[in-house]
Amino acid sequence: MKYQSTRNPELIKTPSRAILEGIAPDGGLYTPAEIPVLKKGEFALLRTMGYSERAVWIISHFLTDFKPTELSEFTAKAYSRFDTPQVAPLREYDDKTFIMELFHGPTCAFKDLALTLLPYLMTSSMEKNGIDERVCVLVATSGDTGKAALEGFKDVPGTSIIVFYPDDGVSEIQRLQMITQSGGNVGVCAVKGNFDDTQTGVKKIFADEAFGKTLKAGACRLSSANSINWGRLVPQIVYYISSYCELLNAGKINGCEQINVCVPTGNFGNILAAFYAKKMGLPIARLVCASNSNNVLTDFIGTGVYNSNRSFCKTISPSMDILVSSNVERLLFELLRHDGEKTAACMSSLAQTGSYTVGDATGRELTEIFAAGWSDDAQTFAQINESFGKFSYLPDTHTAVALSVLEKYRKNTGDDKKTIVAATASPFKFAPDVIRALTGENTDGGAECLDRLSGLTGLPVPEPLRGLDRRAARFTQSVSRCKMDGVVKELLGLDSGARVRAKV
Ligand SMILES: *Cc1c(COP(=O)(O)O)cnc(C)c1O
Repeated sequence: MKYQSTRNPELIKTPSRAILEGIAPDGGLYTPAEIPVLKKGEFALLRTMGYSERAVWIISHFLTDFKPTELSEFTAKAYSRFDTPQVAPLREYDDKTFIMELFHGPTCAFKDLALTLLPYLMTSSMEKNGIDERVCVLVATSGDTGKAALEGFKDVPGTSIIVFYPDDGVSEIQRLQMITQSGGNVGVCAVKGNFDDTQTGVKKIFADEAFGKTLKAGACRLSSANSINWGRLVPQIVYYISSYCELLNAGKINGCEQINVCVPTGNFGNILAAFYAKKMGLPIARLVCASNSNNVLTDFIGTGVYNSNRSFCKTISPSMDILVSSNVERLLFELLRHDGEKTAACMSSLAQTGSYTVGDATGRELTEIFAAGWSDDAQTFAQINESFGKFSYLPDTHTAVALSVLEKYRKNTGDDKKTIVAATASPFKFAPDVIRALTGENTDGGAECLDRLSGLTGLPVPEPLRGLDRRAARFTQSVSRCKMDGVVKELLGLDSGARVRAKV
């Protein structure tokens, strides 16, 4: 399997190289040259497997320079950190809606599915390529990626991890989770601004050649754990296929039945994984892309115009507060039949003018594959209340956006195919807003609200979130966007231009 840059299909890398580099030198994203299609017999076999085995089978198709025995070891280690052997259990919400819970990992958000595995893929990729530098993973987070990456990489030999989060873009619980992070190779820093500012700052560091030289002199290299890294995306394909197998095994669907998938979307990583699962032959009819008031993607899918020139809204689903969704670039590359020039032209238009338009044929294809909708905060609050009251299911604020959009989609189209809804975080992670949805009360965002939510609903506080308020804050620095490179240098001990001292 070869990987191409979305901006130049002739720029080709092995899977392990693509994972190591994170982003291509031309600014493009590494994408498989071809999507493998699963045979009928493979689906039959996958049905008999457990989650980790399915993961090995599916990931082996993409990461062809990793041995299945290696992948077995990695998935076993990664997924043993989940609180259930099912890893991504399915709950029946009503007779045609199934909730795929992706929050049973060490940080209670779906990012764990990929970020518990990525450190193993990354360090093994170093070995395969004969590199003995230290990898420094730089992350821009809208809240959940940061903590999941910190947990995944903490104390992994040969790596450091630095996480930047927007000063006023993450919830109090997310912030507490990050600033109390343990581990000898970790760093966390707030950035003044929103997620787009933070992400732009990280991308700048990656593109800064002089900075790259300083790092090289210190025997250090940067990599990314954001969903621009292929190693983040490939583990996410697994749970769509796995859930389909589970539905078949439970007799909830028949062998040739098509389903829909509905995903609360921010950076477009999770739903893109579902798109790849569809390309692999999973019988998905429609991918329903759910947004909050930052509804760039709803407009894009509806009109073929991607326009990020609009005001940024802070919502109760902060992990979806994004106007520039990086992974749309990979979708474009697919829809444009791997035309790197056209993809690059869209991205350069986006960088220069904040928008681009796809042609009619591409726009039509987009609406055949995807449906899209959005819900504002009021609708999301109402959805949480209704889901708990009527269906005895407590969604978090992101999952509630998906449920709300799905209901509108079904009403508008009459398409009531059985649907898998991705539940991307535990409701406890966003406890104050969930409490407000249930009771109308405004609670402050501290860790006390976890017990309050547990008391209200009878659900236990997830183990990883217990006792957050009693842990010491280790990282309290906050900087402007232009100072982020300084933070990286300082944390890595590169400011003197000398060898890497850190141990961040
Ligand atoms: C990251 C995240 C999302 C958005 O996922 P993308 O892959 O960026 O589209 C949605 N919900 C939660 C809880 C998240 O952490």
